[in-house]
Amino acid sequence: MAPQKNKKDFMSEFRQDLVSGDWILLAPKRGERFGFKERAKVKLAKNKCPFENPAKFGNAPAVLVYQNKKKDDWFLQVIPNKYPAVGRGNCEPTHRKDLHKMHAGTGFHEIVIYRDHNRYLADFIADDIKNIAAAFQDRYKSLAEDKCIEYISIFHNHGKEAGSTVPHPHSQILAMPIIPPDVSHSINGSRRYFNEYGKCVHCQMLAQELKEGERVIYENNGMVVIAPFASRTNFEIRIFPKKHSAYFEKAGEQELAHLADALKFSLSKINKKLKDPAFNFFIHTAPAVKSRDYSHYHWHVEILPKFGIFGGFELGTGMDIITMAPEKAAEILRK
Ligand SMILES: [Zn+2]
Ligand SMILES: [Zn+2]
Repeated sequence: MAPQKNKKDFMSEFRQDLVSGDWILLAPKRGERFGFKERAKVKLAKNKCPFENPAKFGNAPAVLVYQNKKKDDWFLQVIPNKYPAVGRGNCEPTHRKDLHKMHAGTGFHEIVIYRDHNRYLADFIADDIKNIAAAFQDRYKSLAEDKCIEYISIFHNHGKEAGSTVPHPHSQILAMPIIPPDVSHSINGSRRYFNEYGKCVHCQMLAQELKEGERVIYENNGMVVIAPFASRTNFEIRIFPKKHSAYFEKAGEQELAHLADALKFSLSKINKKLKDPAFNFFIHTAPAVKSRDYSHYHWHVEILPKFGIFGGFELGTGMDIITMAPEKAAEILRK
């Protein structure tokens, strides 16, 4: 192949994630087909909404309630999911049956409901987002005490395309007895790097990103927001604490305030610059297994806007295709 003369001739590039080792394909030419995609607006009348008054809709009592003192109303409440993906069960370890490995679907599935029917996270003030993060920590610490639990996933779906079935704003917490595959990749990659170089791969990467600046979207005293080199969706965003720590649940008050500011910035940009697409975000933190050392890990938040639908290529290869170069995405979101 002839060498590429200038950027216009740039066809595509395979990129590998430094931590997980996973590859993606950046194919900007396909971007000619790229358009912003507003999420489908699902209408649900307040009087039919199961989250206006969860107890009245036959949900189990809340396990945590934060009050809005000014309004004499609740601000958020955490309830057990009425349709849980995992539930109470025995806690026996992973076992085999013939060739196959299995584990009982033991765990906890909770919903974090925000009071306002039509107020999305991007519209919350940073102080409220900080309280939400504190509620995540609160539930995390309680669930982590259960001896069956190995990993606690905290995530948020915005829009039907991102998997949200009730349009009333809410997040979810799923505590499970195994460590899921993407988390394993991330943890194992971080451990491998630490064993080889004696340093945290994320800290190294952040130092490099801050030096180059090309993929940095935002920065405050506690957090760095970047468009990852091997983004898995157009406009993927990751928020990293500057201070090395494996455990989200140990982040202090000041750090939560910095996180809330960075999250508010990121979600507002997605909302305004990308015209309110569906998105998911989740926290990657060290597993809740107390007997193992995860101090090499570096907790963070990943935000993935949802534009396309997985095709056979993605499913058949485990490799995502993006059309927006992360450097360009950072430039757009930074403004
Ligand atoms: Zn509602
Ligand atoms: Zn680190």
